[in-house]
Amino acid sequence: MPEGDSVYRQCKMLREALEGAVIESSDFRVPALATSDVSGRTVVAVVPRGKHILIRLSGAPDAAELKSGAEPLTLHSHLMMDGTWRVFDRQQDDDAARPGGRRSYPGASPYRPRGQARRGGSVRSAAEARTRVSADVSIGQGSHTIRAILRTKDVEAVGFDVKDVRLVPTRLEDRELVGYLGPDILGPDWDLEKALERLSAQPDRAIGTALMDQRNLAGIGNVYRVETLFMSRTNPWVTVGSLPDGKLREIVTLAHKLLHLNKDRSMRSTVGQAPQGRPLFWAYGKDGQPCRRCGAVLKRGEIDDALLTVDPAPSRTAVQHLRTIAWCPRCQAAE
Ligand SMILES: [Zn+2]
Repeated sequence: MPEGDSVYRQCKMLREALEGAVIESSDFRVPALATSDVSGRTVVAVVPRGKHILIRLSGAPDAAELKSGAEPLTLHSHLMMDGTWRVFDRQQDDDAARPGGRRSYPGASPYRPRGQARRGGSVRSAAEARTRVSADVSIGQGSHTIRAILRTKDVEAVGFDVKDVRLVPTRLEDRELVGYLGPDILGPDWDLEKALERLSAQPDRAIGTALMDQRNLAGIGNVYRVETLFMSRTNPWVTVGSLPDGKLREIVTLAHKLLHLNKDRSMRSTVGQAPQGRPLFWAYGKDGQPCRRCGAVLKRGEIDDALLTVDPAPSRTAVQHLRTIAWCPRCQAAE
């Protein structure tokens, strides 16, 4: 499931593949952008903001030909539950397009970073790239789930099942896209005090819900919620206002540490460098199993994320379902 660390890694991959390159053609398969075209623009930056991906594009070189206007644009996407961006090598696509060859998604053409030999190049790098790509995606996404394609001379970046694909003027990013987000836990401008202030402003909310509200702080998803609460021995339903002194700071600092430790790892883990075959998490997905700290059976709980707005615009999808969490009735007992 995509959380701040996956988004960070996806952006890193997209940045290596796209930044500085000119878009040769684009293809948006969402109704609102059906006629949009960003070809001719240069990819200026790829930026993660919480769980949002912002691909910033330069102004159009020839404004007259473009409906979307001449000014710099930002292509926004959100991974939600199962979205992913992948990068394909166009040279390999050309090979596949020859008679007898058939081009197919996904994984037909693993991405090789630019600068490496195209032919007779290192196999290791392709395997590496494949590992890196597959770490965050569920294999099996087909072409019908494609929502956006950006093609440069070298690569094709494809957004599978990404949500809320929008093009907005870059100067309106804050107003239209991410201005409502709390401090970005993986951002260069991470502000712990501000996050604590926002969390504390609603003392009656359950900590398990408040941590996931991207308006408080951006980047935490269900995995880090479950793990952070377990590791800090916090009952998920206890209200923010009733936490002991210093506890909120401890919880958020821990979440920050866990996400940072994982941001460059291909395999997410909260238990350190787990040996092969050992569990990667303390509690996430482990309801019914014994607690690794006290031996009690981990319980399965449901937490209502219905109030967590994904986007400030009321017309857009909010999270509406109950999410399953695992917790230890002994280590995380309510006081
Ligand atoms: Zn326990």
